[in-house]
Amino acid sequence: MLTAEEYIQSLRELKTKIYAFGKKLDNFVDDPLIRPHINAAAMTYHLAHDPKLEGLVTATSHLTGKKINRFTHIHQSAEDLVKKVKMLRILAQHTGTCFQRCVGFDAINAVFTVTYDMDQKLGTDYHRRIKQYVGYLQETDKMVAGSMTDAKGDRSFNPGRQKDPDQYIRVVQKNGEGIVIRGAKLHQTGIVNSHEMLIMPTIALDEADRDYAVSCAIPVDAPGVMHFFGRQTNDTRKYDHLDQGNACFGIVGGEAMTVLDNVFVPWERVFMCGEVEFAGAMVEKFASYHRQNYGGCKSGVSDIIIGATYASLEYIGVDKASHVKDKLTEMIHLTETLYACSIACSAEGKPTPCGSYYVEPLLANVCKQNVTRYIYEIARLSHDLAGGILATLPSEQDLQHPEVGPIVAKYITGVEGVDIKHRYRIIRLLENMTGGTALVESMHGAGSPQTQRVMILRQGNLEQKKRMALRLAGIVQPGEKRCFLSREGRSGCDRGCSI
Ligand code: SF4
Repeated sequence: MLTAEEYIQSLRELKTKIYAFGKKLDNFVDDPLIRPHINAAAMTYHLAHDPKLEGLVTATSHLTGKKINRFTHIHQSAEDLVKKVKMLRILAQHTGTCFQRCVGFDAINAVFTVTYDMDQKLGTDYHRRIKQYVGYLQETDKMVAGSMTDAKGDRSFNPGRQKDPDQYIRVVQKNGEGIVIRGAKLHQTGIVNSHEMLIMPTIALDEADRDYAVSCAIPVDAPGVMHFFGRQTNDTRKYDHLDQGNACFGIVGGEAMTVLDNVFVPWERVFMCGEVEFAGAMVEKFASYHRQNYGGCKSGVSDIIIGATYASLEYIGVDKASHVKDKLTEMIHLTETLYACSIACSAEGKPTPCGSYYVEPLLANVCKQNVTRYIYEIARLSHDLAGGILATLPSEQDLQHPEVGPIVAKYITGVEGVDIKHRYRIIRLLENMTGGTALVESMHGAGSPQTQRVMILRQGNLEQKKRMALRLAGIVQPGEKRCFLSREGRSGCDRGCSI
């Protein structure tokens, strides 16, 4: 297993092509725009060496029996799924943001499961390849970005019917050595500081989309790959000091747009190529695994928001008011509700035909749907409590100005003895964690709310619910069982129903 330092050092050896603010970043590892996200991902390496977290951030490989970083593990039990959620909460408590590595973790688990089913039905050779690839990841401890979301162009057309055929990643050439792919993936969490990307289709496909049914792995610095780093709310604050907010770890996952311009992939790294009927299953598996996570990482992030809100109130002497306690209670309640749903969909996980474990998909989708609402409510309550200063605090340059600085300090002071810089830092942390980019990520990360609602309705089994209601109302369908309360010799139960 790599240490955090080894992980960061390994990024220096890559030739990753990253553009931001119209420039190519030659030393992205030390660039203040990117480094906080690298630090967040590095925590997944650092905590794997903490003896107190042995067995939680580490796991035993089912392929080799060796100790590995859990982020390269294939879930072998419902307990593994529960441990994943617990690990995510702890990591978020350490970083206060997205540590990115779960996307690739979910991608390897989804592809592992679906390739087995594909091979069983179609006689393909994909499962052996992904097994080999997972073994390579476990051995090298490389970070993988899970790459699902395509550019999508005009959403009213399927991939094969787009005017510009590159709006979804597609196979443009095949030969005895491998395939060549072209297109782009958007919203790529942690990709600029990953080693690899694991590509999957973004939607269920039909016959006309055969070239788009592609799953494969490539290095993020392969020839033809370039990344455009996304702008975030207040991103230039990363060049500041007191005004930075989350000084070490940044906001959300440092997402980027990744363009693949005729990238070659050898067959050994191809896990789907034309099998349209399995594209939907791959999307669904990946999405459910990733939606499972959100009550883990976001409850950890919310723990920090609650703590920061409380501290900000202590600094101005209003932390004891009863309405404050009530709102903090509500924030805790919402946070633990998110966590409970993540734990529930994990504990209810079941084995797949290949032996790996899969979350309970209905609960996983409910979990992520809750995040799209409760995180906003938690942020709203923190704004309510922390006050308008979140939006109006003068800059650190004004505070530290030799002439006017003391004037600013005089009117930003709260409880006697509290360092004014501490008040600045905690206000900026809250501003950073509860506004703009952070909220949008909670809404759309792991799929927009509507994608969860589609799954919730599909998994919700309305027909079964209807049958249960009809039976209680005494309405029996032909061939249905009689009520167990029926008395011998009578044709109905005591309520007089006909069953
Ligand atoms: Fe992991 Fe959460 Fe970031 Fe997704 S949003 S990659 S689940 S930390």
